Amino acid sequence: MGRVALVTGGTRGIGRAISEGLKAEGYNVIASYAGNDEAASKFKEETSIDVIKFDVGDFAACETAVQKIEADHGDIEVLVNNAGITWDKPLHKMSPEAWNAVINTDLTSIFNLSKLVIDKMRDAKFGRIINISSVNGQKGQFGQSNYSAAKAGLIGFTKALALETAAKGITANVVAPGYIGTEMVMAVPEKVLNEVIIPQIPVGRLGEASEIARCVNFLAADEAGFITGSTLSANGGQYMA
Ligand code: NDP
Repeated sequence: MGRVALVTGGTRGIGRAISEGLKAEGYNVIASYAGNDEAASKFKEETSIDVIKFDVGDFAACETAVQKIEADHGDIEVLVNNAGITWDKPLHKMSPEAWNAVINTDLTSIFNLSKLVIDKMRDAKFGRIINISSVNGQKGQFGQSNYSAAKAGLIGFTKALALETAAKGITANVVAPGYIGTEMVMAVPEKVLNEVIIPQIPVGRLGEASEIARCVNFLAADEAGFITGSTLSANGGQYMA
């Protein structure tokens, strides 16, 4: 069996493609999710990938989940922090609840899970931590001060972690997708997609989830040990950071 890989939010959208991409490369993948049991069991049935339900924003829940994964599969060697939500409002209309929910799920989660796997990765002298940011964390986006803050924050986190772990055989990197045709983006009104968003993408289309999975496979590989602290943008040329 290949290396153990946990993909958070790995049952739907980009995460699903990442889970499938890693499995195809021979990893022993575990996909987490928050509450959509129906999607998770359909995913499990279709892919035979093990699933686990917990809130990535809750440290105690993450701790219990990591212990279960370690007991069932062995230590986590590849961590893909992919789970994320949006709760858009311009700041003057944004509630503290919307701020806290996005910061917890999209940023604190990355502390929670990285913290819980780092000791074992240090002992093993191997680890891959891949954090999923967003073009909107790199450039900012109207109505997304919470999301842009979380997605920019994780880039700083990753650079600091990369410095702390470089001598231990562990890499920490970011993948920053542009607009990908998942449920999160398909929830945007079609008129806005066609008349506002797609015209901003030089490649002229939304990205595919599988195109993000390719980036993750590249960074997860044993051969990618010299790449750390970097941000790989996959956005169809929309923003060149
Ligand atoms: P989806 O909404 O399609 O899927 C989100 C996944 O995350 C689901 O599996 C969901 O579980 C899980 N999740 C959400 N909240 C939590 C939580 N609190 N605890 C555990 N799991 C949780 O998202 P996308 O595939 O569109 O996005 C994936 C990542 O990529 C996100 O971080 C997003 O910000 C980022 N991204 C997406 C872009 C896009 O165009 N789609 C562009 C740039 C970045 P459940 O099924 O139970 O709800």
